Amino acid sequence: MTAPVILWFRRDLRLADQPALAAAVASGAPVIPVFILDDDTPKHRKMGAASRWWLHHSLMALDADLRGLGSRLILRSGKSDEILNALAAETGASAVHCIRHYEPWWRNAEKAVVNALPKGCELVCHDGNYLLPAGSVTTGSGGQYKIYTPFMRALWQHMPPAVPLASPTAVTVPDTWPDSENLGDWNLLPTKPDWSGGMSEMWTPGEKGAQARLAAFDDKAQYYDEKRNLPSVEGSSFLSPHLHFGEISPAACWHATMRAGGSVDVFLKELVWRDYAQNVIVQFPEYGAKNARDAFDKLPWRDLSDPAVMADFVAWTKGRTGYPIVDAGMRQLWATGWMHNRVRMITASFLIKHLLIDWREGEKWFWDTLVDADYGSNSVNWQWTAGTGVDSNMFVRIMAPLSQSEKFDAARYIREWVPELAELQEPAIHDPDEFGARPKSYPRKVIGHKAARERALKAHEAVKG
Ligand code: FAD
Repeated sequence: MTAPVILWFRRDLRLADQPALAAAVASGAPVIPVFILDDDTPKHRKMGAASRWWLHHSLMALDADLRGLGSRLILRSGKSDEILNALAAETGASAVHCIRHYEPWWRNAEKAVVNALPKGCELVCHDGNYLLPAGSVTTGSGGQYKIYTPFMRALWQHMPPAVPLASPTAVTVPDTWPDSENLGDWNLLPTKPDWSGGMSEMWTPGEKGAQARLAAFDDKAQYYDEKRNLPSVEGSSFLSPHLHFGEISPAACWHATMRAGGSVDVFLKELVWRDYAQNVIVQFPEYGAKNARDAFDKLPWRDLSDPAVMADFVAWTKGRTGYPIVDAGMRQLWATGWMHNRVRMITASFLIKHLLIDWREGEKWFWDTLVDADYGSNSVNWQWTAGTGVDSNMFVRIMAPLSQSEKFDAARYIREWVPELAELQEPAIHDPDEFGARPKSYPRKVIGHKAARERALKAHEAVKG
C-alpha cells in the first residue's frame, strides 16, 4: 500500500484552486485531510468569537464537500507540530501538503512542523491564498515595499494571476481513517446567549456560499467604484470572510470579475490591499501590537482603567455614542459580524481621535467581532487610520463623522441599524442633537466634535515633540 499524504487545512478551506489539495491528489497516494484547532502554539493569536462561529460552519461545509468525493475531514486539536508529528507517525505518511500562511504564528508553526515530522515525511508548502506569495514583489534594488501604491503598481505587472485550478473529481482515500475529534465538542458556537442569529441570516460559510457571493457580484462589479462608499447600498462584494477563510481564492475572484467586464480595476486594487497587508506583516510581524512609527509610543492615550474612559469605550462597542453613523456601524458589526468599509474607517477614527483610545483596543474588538477578522488586514487598516503605520493617513486629519454621514448618504443605513432614529428625516438623522430631534431613547453625543478634535490635536503635540 502506498504511504498516504496528509493535507493540512488552515484558512484555505476549499477544494477549487487549492494547490495543496491538487498536489496531494496528483501524488496518487491516499490523502488524509486534517484540520487542527490550534489554540496552544505559543504566541498563537486565538481566533475571536465571531470567527469561531464561522469556522464551525465552514468546517462542516468542507467535510460535506470532501464526503461528496468519497473522502472526509479529520479533526484534531492541539499544537500543530505535535499533532502532525503524531498523525504522520500513526499513518506512515510520506508528506504533509499545506498552503503557506503569513501570520507570524503560522510561519513559526511551519518551522516547528518541519522539525517535528518523523524521518521520511516532509512538509510541502504551496502558494495559493494570495495573488502572489508575500515577499515576492520587490523593489528595483530587491527590497520590500512598505507603501501600498508602489507595491500595487509592481504587483500589477504580474497580473492576471494564474488561471484557477478546478476541484478534483476524485480523491484517493486510505484503507482506514485515523480517529477524528467531534466538531461539536470544540464549542465554537456561542451559547447562553446565542448571539449568532444575525450572522446566520446574512452568511453561508463554506465554498458554495463563497461561490454564490462571487456570482452575485457579477452584475454589480462594474458599479463598484460608484457605489462602494455608500453604506446604504450593497455595492461591495461581501467576499471578505470567504477570502479570509480561504473558501475562495483571490485568483478565482480576479478572473470572474474580469469576465464580468466593465471597469473593474478599482475592485481589483482592493484585492491587492489584501496582498499588501500580508507583505506588511511579513516585514513587521508585531504589526497588530506595536506602532510602526515609534514617535506614537509617546501619544498620551486615555487610560481604560479610568471608569469614565471605559464607559466611552463601552458606548463605542455597543453603538451608543450619540453619533448615528458610528452607532449604526458598531451595531451592524455586532449583529452580522461585518461592517461596511467606509463605516469601518469612520468608527475606527472615532475611537482613536474622538475618544482618544489606543487603536489596539479597537483592533482587539474588531478581532473578536468580525467574521473576516484577519491579522494582516485588520492591523494594517487600524494603523493606517491611527496614522501610526508604515503607510497611513495623518493623525491630524480628523474625520468628521457627521459630515461623512451626509456625504456618503447614510440615512437609510442609520434607519436600518439605529431604529430609535428611524422616524427622523435628513438632515436631522445625521446629527439629532444639533437639530433638537434626539428621541429620549437615543444617547447624547459622548463628546462634541470640536472638543474632541481639540483634545486629539493637543495629545498629538507629544508625538511631534
Ligand atoms: P470589497 O470592497 O468587495 O473588496 C473585495 C476584497 O478586497 C475584500 O473582500 C477584502 O478581501 C479586500 N479588501 C478590500 N478593502 C481592503 C482593505 N482596506 N484592506 C485589506 N483588504 C481589503 N478586511 C478584512 O478582510 N479583515 C479585517 O480584519 C479588516 N479589518 C479592517 C479594519 C479597519 C479599521 C478597516 C478600516 C478596514 C478593515 N478591513 C478588513 C478592510 C475592509 O473594510 C474589508 O475588507 C471590506 O469592507 C470587506 O467587504 P467586501 O468583501 O464587501 O469588500
